[in-house]
Amino acid sequence: MAGSISERRDQLSAERERVWVQLAELGVGRDSYDEGFADTGQVTAERGEVEALAGSLRDTLSDIDAALSKFDAGTYGQCEECGGPISEARLEAAPAARTCIECASKRR
Ligand SMILES: [Zn+2]
Repeated sequence: MAGSISERRDQLSAERERVWVQLAELGVGRDSYDEGFADTGQVTAERGEVEALAGSLRDTLSDIDAALSKFDAGTYGQCEECGGPISEARLEAAPAARTCIECASKRR
C-alpha cells in the first residue's frame, strides 16, 4: 500500500543509511583529515564547504532519528509545534518533517 506508515519508516531508514555514507565519504571525524593537506587558501575554502555540508547532513540525521523514534512513540506524522497532523503531501516530500506546513511557515 502506497504511503503506509511502515513504508515511510523503510524510506527513512534508507535515507539514514545514505546520509551516513555521505558523512563517511566526507571523512568527517577522521583524525587524519588535516594531515596530507597543504595549508593553502584553496584547501581552507574547500574545508569550509565540507564542514558546512557535514553540518547540514548531521541536521538531516537528527531529524531522521527524531522521526524514527516517533514511530516507536506512535506520534509520527504529528506536528511538534501544534500537535496537529502533518499532511500526507508534506511527509511525502519530507518524511523527516518535524512540523506541519502551517507551523513551518510561521517560523520564518
Ligand atoms: Zn503545526
